[in-house]
Amino acid sequence: MKTEPISTPYDWLDRSLDSIHKANWYRSTQTITSKAGTIATIDGREMLMFASNNYLGLAGDRRLIEAAIRATEMYGTGSTGSRLVTGHLALHEELETAIADLKNTEAALVFSSGYLANLGTIAAIVGARDLILGDEYNHSCLKKGGLLSGATAIDYQHLDLADLTNKLQEHRAKYRRCLITTDSVFSMDGDLAPLREIMDLAYQYDCMVLVDEAHGTGVFGDRGGGLTQAMGIQENLIQVGTLSKALGSLGGYVAGSAKLIDYLRNRAATWIYTTALSPADTGAAIAAIAIVKTEAILRQQLWQNVALFKQGLENLGIQAIAVDSPIIAIEVGDIPQTLQIATHLRENGIFAPAIRPPTVPTPRIRLTLMASHTQVQIQFLMQCLQSW
Ligand SMILES: *Cc1c(COP(=O)(O)O)cnc(C)c1O
Repeated sequence: MKTEPISTPYDWLDRSLDSIHKANWYRSTQTITSKAGTIATIDGREMLMFASNNYLGLAGDRRLIEAAIRATEMYGTGSTGSRLVTGHLALHEELETAIADLKNTEAALVFSSGYLANLGTIAAIVGARDLILGDEYNHSCLKKGGLLSGATAIDYQHLDLADLTNKLQEHRAKYRRCLITTDSVFSMDGDLAPLREIMDLAYQYDCMVLVDEAHGTGVFGDRGGGLTQAMGIQENLIQVGTLSKALGSLGGYVAGSAKLIDYLRNRAATWIYTTALSPADTGAAIAAIAIVKTEAILRQQLWQNVALFKQGLENLGIQAIAVDSPIIAIEVGDIPQTLQIATHLRENGIFAPAIRPPTVPTPRIRLTLMASHTQVQIQFLMQCLQSW
């Protein structure tokens, strides 16, 4: 008879989970059983959604749903292989052409997610002899991409051009290539990168620039091309982003020069060794880009909602980290206080989570607005903030 071992190689899991609980860092999922929109059924209860990345409401749009169905009918459910083998569909080419047009770049390449687009691109374009200077609040995938690349990665202080300049002065000359990385819209703070100044520094110090437009695409720019477009940046740079936020689908992309894209097709491991984007995701993203380019009204509605909420916060005397984007983070004190207000909002049927360390340095309530929120919904949110 086999006796139970006293210890197993997996016992550390208990200990690690214990310390996660003790630090108040434990996270778990909540189950949604409704279509993407401003109202969601979460764990069986109807809630007003103020936490979604579905900025333009496209994830529930009939036209995207139909495009996904049409693509599935035509190509099937799976793309059956990697792009370089059997997975390269005419639909992918159509999407990449649409992204390049949206971004005003020579070319674009779609990856299975924004996370993989950043990992694969950074690891492909810099290596052990190179330097990465990144904003300290950059998204996880920019940081992990830096690690994977083997380059020396140094963070500069959030939005701090003086610190970036100092670090360029101190380190640039010791390395072969240098890549500056930044989110355009910071995902947890909602503030904006000074892209013009970063481009000027990059020119001065002979650096490449990679801008992550995950929260900018669809939201900024006359045609929804992102913050880069809104700020009139014309120079060659590397734009990365996702199809899964304002564009309501799934997948990531890189947009830039034809040479860059050609190189990535040969060197980006997270593109080469993974199955191509599914027909449904690809079809939905093509439909989304067509809408984003032509229906400026969606962006206008979104920005009207941002303005309405900003006014409401001012009236209540509530300070947000920034009100420069549809991401609005409110710092209300320590972790217990932040959890209390999140609970208060939840009890009133509002879904807006507390975001805590280690995800962010300081606890906050993170709200996101959508084009499809009604004035009444936003006013109700304001009332709930006021009653707290
Ligand atoms: C969400 C996000 C990503 C990852 O995109 P996915 O397509 O969800 O993998 C990358 N960068 C930033 C800044 C993000 O907010």
